[in-house]
Amino acid sequence: MKIKDHLLTDARFIHSPNQDDRSATDLILIVIHGISLPPGDFDSDDIILLFTNQLDCSKEAYFDLLDVKVSSHILIRRDGEIIQFVPFNRRAWHAGESSFKGMTGCNDFSIGIELEGTDDTPYSKEQYLALNSVIDLIQSEYGNLSLKGHSDISPGRKTDPGSCFDWSKVGSAEPKRPLH
Ligand SMILES: [Zn+2]
Repeated sequence: MKIKDHLLTDARFIHSPNQDDRSATDLILIVIHGISLPPGDFDSDDIILLFTNQLDCSKEAYFDLLDVKVSSHILIRRDGEIIQFVPFNRRAWHAGESSFKGMTGCNDFSIGIELEGTDDTPYSKEQYLALNSVIDLIQSEYGNLSLKGHSDISPGRKTDPGSCFDWSKVGSAEPKRPLH
């Protein structure tokens, strides 16, 4: 797999209308999220429907999502399938109110990766494999971006990817210090 014209070459691409331009901004951050719709259900396509503004929000479980316009660059499903919704050079709407190193509005300078899951369910081996390969590709294309969870950049407001997300399984989560 490669990145060509800001798209993964071997991932399914589904266009999300929830994006805009940020071409003048350098990318410095990857934000990891967790999401499932309905929460805890990993068999529906409702995340895709949400990111494409087609979710039926008349269902009680989704009342809060009425008129919510969100997206992420990447969704990684439980079986490791990678779906891209927004080219990396455009701004996806995943972080909301957030800050990183004193800068607010992390959507401006980050790539958002959603993992299908919940805060308290371990993510699958296939998801870590896919996540690491996507991170490697992004780092080689756009430079050494920092990695944070949504809860790190929106503390008190967001808890994802949650306590079950295992940072030790992510390739270069933080630069490793030499042992000596
Ligand atoms: Zn999130």
